[in-house]
Amino acid sequence: MTSKGIAVIISLLVAAIITAYLLVSPSLEFKERILALGFTFSSCFLLVYFSYEALIFKEINIIYDGLDKTKRKDFRRMSNKFLWRPEPLKRIKEEIYHMAAQKQKEIDELKRLQALRREFLADVSHELKTPIFAAQGFIHTLLDGAMDDVKVRDKFLQKAAKSLDGLDELVQDLITISQLEKGVVQMKKSTFDLRVLAHEIFEQLENKAALKGITLHLEEDEQDTYLVQADRGRIKQVLINLLDNAIKYGREQGNIWLSFYSGKKKTLVTVKDDGRGVPKEHQTRIFERFYRIDKSRTKDTGGGGSGLGLAISKHIVEAHRSTIAIESEVGKGTILRFKLPTAKA
Ligand code: ADP
Repeated sequence: MTSKGIAVIISLLVAAIITAYLLVSPSLEFKERILALGFTFSSCFLLVYFSYEALIFKEINIIYDGLDKTKRKDFRRMSNKFLWRPEPLKRIKEEIYHMAAQKQKEIDELKRLQALRREFLADVSHELKTPIFAAQGFIHTLLDGAMDDVKVRDKFLQKAAKSLDGLDELVQDLITISQLEKGVVQMKKSTFDLRVLAHEIFEQLENKAALKGITLHLEEDEQDTYLVQADRGRIKQVLINLLDNAIKYGREQGNIWLSFYSGKKKTLVTVKDDGRGVPKEHQTRIFERFYRIDKSRTKDTGGGGSGLGLAISKHIVEAHRSTIAIESEVGKGTILRFKLPTAKA
């Protein structure tokens, strides 16, 4: 029951008693009796209603004063004007619901971040473990006597070195991604020709592609140059990541096409392969840190990536105000696209 309801009932009761008393008194006329009823009812109503509200509010104020300063700022919707306005209980209930909902949101977000952090830590330790254990194994085997055989010694030392190179690559990638995520990396933009960059990268990757019998193609039209305004070093890193993946997950004797299309404002960059493809359910997830479709794939530490390649590429492309789009069909191949700002010649 609301304070208004209680006030109405009490006022009616008091007014009824007084009117009943007046009814038996012969000195008053009918009109005066009705007037007395109305007057008694209204004054009673106001009196009961406001004293009740004031009483409740006094209690609430005591609770409210008890809240320390930090908590109090959550009650910003509650002002001092609050005091003499009706239904303080209803409003304080709304305040508390509002605050609870806000706190719940904060808790959910913190929980999500903590889960991500835990997952990241687990992933990092797992990734670090692989090359460290490998190198450790080779070195201990050498110390245990394998060193005496020159052939075995060289082979094991080379393998240990390869593992440590992989470890170095992983740590470099971790540093890069943490800087990109912190947002402290500034893109050093300059005007450069994508075609020249493509030739540079092809030279670098040709041997690796040839080992799988893969041919790299640069799809060129009549245009001589593809000038863009971007961070050359970082875009080189993105293209190497995408082409390297196309080789790693491409089919033997397959093909990889790199192509550019210059628009007035944006230049479209496309990397296409005819490899194993990416199933639909993995297409957005492969851009997450350490996400791999084939979880069991044991990374051969020298040639394999760190599992961070696409996450790093995504960050770099986003820092150029674009996104990487994927289009892929299992068994047919994968296309990855992004855009860069076209530069004036
Ligand atoms: P890594 O290659 O080191 O595992 P990436 O972040 O570069 O890490 O790629 C994440 C995952 O996405 C890969 O493990 C692979 O499963 C999948 N992937 C990436 N590129 C391709 C591609 N061109 N074709 C098929 N799968 C791919």
